[in-house]
Amino acid sequence: MTSENNKNPVLAPRGLDVLRDPLLNKGTAFNEKERDALGLRGLLPLHVLNQDDQIKRVLMNLRRLTDPLDKFIALNSLHDRNEALFFRVLCEHIDEMQPIVYTPTVGLACQQFGNIFQEPRGMFIGANDRGNIANVLRNWPYQAGIIVVTDGERILGLGDLGANGMGIPVGKLSLYTACAGIHPRLCLPITLDVGTNNDALRNDLNYVGLRQRRITGTAYDEFIEEFMTATQEVFPGVLVQFEDFANHNAFRLLEKYRDRICSFNDDIQGTAAVALAGLFSALRITGAPLEEQKVLFLGAGEAATGIADLIVSAMTAQGLTHEQAMRKCWLHDSQGLVVASRKDLAQHKLAYAHEHAPAGDFLSSIKALKPTAIIGVSAVGGTFTRAVLEEMARINQQPIVFALSNPTSQAECTAEEAYRWTGGRALFACGSPFDPVELNGKTYVPRQGNNSYIFPGIGLGAIASGAKAITDDMFMSAAHTLAHLVTESDLQQGSLYPALPRIREVSEGIAVAIAESAYSRKIAGKPKPMDVLQDVRSQMFDPRY
Ligand code: NAD
Repeated sequence: MTSENNKNPVLAPRGLDVLRDPLLNKGTAFNEKERDALGLRGLLPLHVLNQDDQIKRVLMNLRRLTDPLDKFIALNSLHDRNEALFFRVLCEHIDEMQPIVYTPTVGLACQQFGNIFQEPRGMFIGANDRGNIANVLRNWPYQAGIIVVTDGERILGLGDLGANGMGIPVGKLSLYTACAGIHPRLCLPITLDVGTNNDALRNDLNYVGLRQRRITGTAYDEFIEEFMTATQEVFPGVLVQFEDFANHNAFRLLEKYRDRICSFNDDIQGTAAVALAGLFSALRITGAPLEEQKVLFLGAGEAATGIADLIVSAMTAQGLTHEQAMRKCWLHDSQGLVVASRKDLAQHKLAYAHEHAPAGDFLSSIKALKPTAIIGVSAVGGTFTRAVLEEMARINQQPIVFALSNPTSQAECTAEEAYRWTGGRALFACGSPFDPVELNGKTYVPRQGNNSYIFPGIGLGAIASGAKAITDDMFMSAAHTLAHLVTESDLQQGSLYPALPRIREVSEGIAVAIAESAYSRKIAGKPKPMDVLQDVRSQMFDPRY
């Protein structure tokens, strides 16, 4: 490099530097002018392929693969080579691609993370970075607008996967871009490598993380405090989304930081909004009012209590007292019905520990409580048995059955089981995708109650308005917005959510609702624009070259 060059370190990248930067690279789609201007002559084959043709080539190669993990690896390496092309493939084929980049395949990818590791993506911040976290964050080359962070302790329904959990923040941020157009440069996936208590992983040659047990107690809290403070120092105003933390940390971290730093927990709050939207849709079919529902959850963790809390807020908005609304929501965990007499309950379950006789198995709880809806968030597959589903169909004309656990192997029941054992009367939503079901001459199209309907729009609305907090009201607005986008023809085929290809429209609508809420509550970081929708749209990343 000449001394002249040394005076000017910010040179526009050229040649191989362009081809090796996934945010700049267009591969064989660079046109003749660009090839001249960027010094690419000779570095590419001569035929210029446009992006549409590149997409056809990507799809041809992906569809030749039969193993979902191979598809995941192929898409991931496209992500590492050419982000615009990756996101166009993702956006335009979201039905086909979401199950690969996110649930259910991402679960498998996290389990195999060390074995399939190719390129680092996002940041790994270790327990041994304590005291230096802000400096580590400064190594990130872009100004982050949104961080998705996990400590890997409760990855989907798969437990402690330590640093291998990185697949989740990466996959989730891909959906922020694909579903809501948040610019990839703004997206920062982070794994806090605080060790793992998974013995098999610590002894696995290919494990990518620290070989130590998890730090806990004060050491853990001080580490998180330093991390959270550093995020705001290095990326002022950045939105922090907590992801897949274990119960014992998830609830308290959310409470500790939500008023101080713009943050939310998608497992608790995003899940709540998507489930409530599904419930609103189901009630459009039954015609019954929300406040007359009785909801029994299988599982009493982050998803269950998050959903229950939002249902309670929605019911109180319909006129019930808080106490009345609380008694409409019941939890059943691995030890049985959550009731006041139990002495083994974690803090987050106590509010729902009602006075009632104990019940050991789920079927007994259903018989005792006669719920109108059961929501499975237990991460235990097959727990909505034939007997459970038949009992729900016996006590309800149209039983509401949500089997939300991921990945597919942990789903409480399949779509086929839900429809078959209720005589086709179930109003069903699932966490992992299921194919349409034919039964007695009718086709049912189950749709995923997937957080990806909610979190991308929340992120986009927060970034567009510079929101300083994500409030409970915002999740309620997101649920209403999503439910309003479900059409009559969706409902007629049993679909409680809009078709996934409408996701950009859904995210836009939610983003506008979030931004409006931030402006009206005076927690926006900028004055309200004349046209909020236009302002939101103007910030969306367009992956077309
Ligand atoms: P969590 O670990 O916080 O909660 C799991 C709960 O299930 C715990 O309360 C546990 O006691 C209970 N449980 C375990 N075994 C049980 C059994 N045999 N019977 C009854 N309860 C049992 O996890 P979470 O964040 O609440 O997530 C739970 C599941 O929901 C996961 O599979 C997750 O992937 C899924 N989920 C899906 C979505 C979605 O968009 N569809 C969103 C969030 C979570």
